[in-house]
Amino acid sequence: MNELDNHTFRLAVAQFDQAAERMNLDLNLRERLKLPERSLIVSVPVRMDNGTVKVFTGYRVKHDSSRGPSKGGIRYHPDVNLGEVAALAMWMTWKCALAGLPYGGAKGGVQVAPEQLSRGELQRLTRRYAAEIFPLIGPDKDVPAPDVGTDAQVMAWIMDTYSQQMGFAVPGVVTGKPLSIGGSLGREEATGRGVVDVTLEAMKHLGVAVPTATVAVQGFGNVGSHTARIMQEAGAKVIAVSNKTGGLYNPKGLNIPDLLTRYRATGRQSLCDVKMGDAITNEELLALDCTILVPAALSEQITQDNAAKVRCRILAEGANGPTTLEADQILIDKGIFIIPDILANSGGVIVSYFEWVQDVQRFFWKAKDIQDRLHEIITDAFHRTLQFATTRQVTMRMAALMSGIDKVAQAHLARGLYP
Ligand code: NAD
Repeated sequence: MNELDNHTFRLAVAQFDQAAERMNLDLNLRERLKLPERSLIVSVPVRMDNGTVKVFTGYRVKHDSSRGPSKGGIRYHPDVNLGEVAALAMWMTWKCALAGLPYGGAKGGVQVAPEQLSRGELQRLTRRYAAEIFPLIGPDKDVPAPDVGTDAQVMAWIMDTYSQQMGFAVPGVVTGKPLSIGGSLGREEATGRGVVDVTLEAMKHLGVAVPTATVAVQGFGNVGSHTARIMQEAGAKVIAVSNKTGGLYNPKGLNIPDLLTRYRATGRQSLCDVKMGDAITNEELLALDCTILVPAALSEQITQDNAAKVRCRILAEGANGPTTLEADQILIDKGIFIIPDILANSGGVIVSYFEWVQDVQRFFWKAKDIQDRLHEIITDAFHRTLQFATTRQVTMRMAALMSGIDKVAQAHLARGLYP
């Protein structure tokens, strides 16, 4: 499908092809699973504060729903395009299956720089986008969540827009909402907490003592900032963090709660203005000598051009698709232990699942229940993946993909082809 053809989609398909080949997956199923089930492109007209109307392009792609409603975030970023959204939707399918959640995969996005909009413009954009994708979404159909450039407030506007159309409150239409309208305790930090849970398991497996570990985190948004904070609480030393403007490095360790307070005071703009260490570039951060490197920003950050410079012991992929196919091989050859994205960052969708279950049942859980159940599901997924990788002699990425794809294939085979 030419419209889907971009580098991120090619990466997702190449990973799928490798896994499918290794699994000897049925050729008919391969054809189906390479393509999304349904893709919607929408025009989103927005009345700007100056009175003009600007039209933005939005997408919602459902990759697969053989195992349940589809699930996946909504991204607001200027580079959003159909191929990228389709790739992210495909990764969501494997991620949900690997974690054993009764969901398929989806993703959405709008081509926009949200920081350039006023709050009113952002709300009007979100509500119109939600109205345009209304035919696809719903608690039993497709359930969005936050991703890059969106947050709990954006989810609240989507929930309200959907509920206005239905005539009653439908909290289960999105996850990652504020607590006041059916959000879950622990959802905001869930992806970061999950990254830390699996990284600690990897350290145990490799015999790395937590107090000796140094951590560098690329991206200081939802995933990166919670990962950095919880890593530090676990006893590791966070020596570098970055955002799109650049990073901060302190070999003695950064005090993350302190840094977060000062960063928020700058309006989450420049990390370098928070004078708590030396300024570094994102390229320098990726090449730091550290125990754990956590890419938690955008995709394809580690490429064949910089992979040889990566010097970590463990790569914990907080972001989706941060490593290109060529870079993956270079890292493997260097003996770096990779915790692949669909495993490492699955804490977000796991707690989104808890939120959806609580919304549907109208019965809410305590923070400790959420943390404990997240820990149980994600560490179980880690050990199953490790076991698979060891017995089948494949990488952790291949093991995670093969396990996820196999569950989806089983569902397709059981249901058969309609009509
Ligand atoms: P976010 O918008 O909260 O934060 C993104 C961060 O990345 C910001 O600090 C931004 O400045 C930084 N950034 C952007 N471009 C960069 C660049 N070129 N170099 C360095 N930093 C850059 O987004 P998020 O929700 O934290 O998502 C980050 C990644 O994690 C994405 O790949 C997303 O798909 C993935 N992810 C998010 C969740 C979730 O629950 N939010 C769950 C699973 C995976």
